[in-house]
Amino acid sequence: KFSYAHRLGFGSGNPTGKIPLGLKRKGLRIVVTGGAGFVGSHLVDRLIARGDSVIVVDNFFTGRKENVMHHFGNPNFELIRHDVVEPLLLEVDQIYHLACPASPVHYKFNPTNVVGTLNMLGLAKRVGARFLLTSTSEVYGDPLQHPQKETYWGNVNPIGVRSCYDEGKRTAETLTMDYHRGAGVEVRIARIFNTYGPRMCIDDGRVVSNFVAQALRKEPLTVYGDGKQTRSFQYVSDLVEGLMRLMEGEHVGPFNLGNPGEFTMLELAEVVQETIDPNAKIEFRPNTEDDPHKRKPDISRAKELLGWQPKVSLRKGLPLMVSDFRQRIFGDHKVGSS
Ligand code: NAD
Ligand code: UDP
Ligand code: UDP
Repeated sequence: KFSYAHRLGFGSGNPTGKIPLGLKRKGLRIVVTGGAGFVGSHLVDRLIARGDSVIVVDNFFTGRKENVMHHFGNPNFELIRHDVVEPLLLEVDQIYHLACPASPVHYKFNPTNVVGTLNMLGLAKRVGARFLLTSTSEVYGDPLQHPQKETYWGNVNPIGVRSCYDEGKRTAETLTMDYHRGAGVEVRIARIFNTYGPRMCIDDGRVVSNFVAQALRKEPLTVYGDGKQTRSFQYVSDLVEGLMRLMEGEHVGPFNLGNPGEFTMLELAEVVQETIDPNAKIEFRPNTEDDPHKRKPDISRAKELLGWQPKVSLRKGLPLMVSDFRQRIFGDHKVGSS
């Protein structure tokens, strides 16, 4: 069998998966599904910079050409408009499978998590590629364990309004492990916690993008419920580093990838006020059904086995996102580009 290590160009005697110093590594052929989206496009930037050939597969459901346009004309970059719910034939070494309608506003109507994941696993099996699934902290549902470890099985309502996403990702994890055990596909599973940064969808309803856009537009920040529910917010560059370490490493996972810094939504609103506009008003709105009360990753496993931990705090990362949002909302390249 033509092993993954051979594809990397240095035989199989390399249990760490790391590139030996002084050895020039052959560029890999990598598919990033959902690569025109928020996280995907930052991942593509890193892979291209590393010298790999990248094929982005995206149907632009929530992604945008603008996120990857700076690679047009680069012979190492290809963009395919394709819905992963339909079969796809390609020859590649690695598959980063990110395609997914990731926001509550979008995800309710879409079979991508199940059918799309099945197709990409079928592709991985046929060509012997390594497959990485971007799962989510939502697999823990409204968790009864805090902080959440990867060993926790979760507390998910199978028939609630969020179930399509939670259960879709849980099914995607199941499919991934079945292809690993049953067909020998090399797989990696990341459970991603709330992530923010430049290129996030402005109006997809997630809390960080909502608050930042609202503060910039001088609208009140909409806090759902009493605002005491918590989340842990990770800056996108930390996530991309974690995903690449996971793909290149030897461990299947699942691995929590998130920033353990935990904030209530009211505290987040305060950080947004400090960063953008101290006079921004707060407006309370009814919360959505089945909203998890708290969420915070235990990242000991990623620390130990991937040597990974986040570096960018919310107060450091938020301004980087704000200047991007300011430019996209107002088209102003000078104001606030610090
Ligand atoms: P995003 O919406 O910006 O990116 C998703 C991309 O997938 C978009 O470009 C979209 O057009 C594409 N897509 C959706 N359905 C598709 C289909 N059927 N065929 C082809 N392409 C399709 O979201 P993101 O935040 O970049 O999320 C990326 C991945 O990370 C997702 O799998 C998401 O579930 C996971 N994740 C993200 C977060 C987060 O906070 N950002 C948290 C947990 C998990
Ligand atoms: N698939 C794909 N590209 C490939 C190989 C498979 O999109 O290169 C799809 C295929 O259409 C099928 C799914 O992946 O719907 C699962 O494929 P697998 O071979 O595991 O299952 P089977 O086709 O035998 O049911
Ligand atoms: N939320 C909020 N105001 C908003 C959008 C969301 O208070 O404008 C809350 C939402 O109720 C949830 C938290 O922020 O408790 C995180 O929501 P998001 O959709 O960003 O992520 P997820 O619920 O998937 O973690």
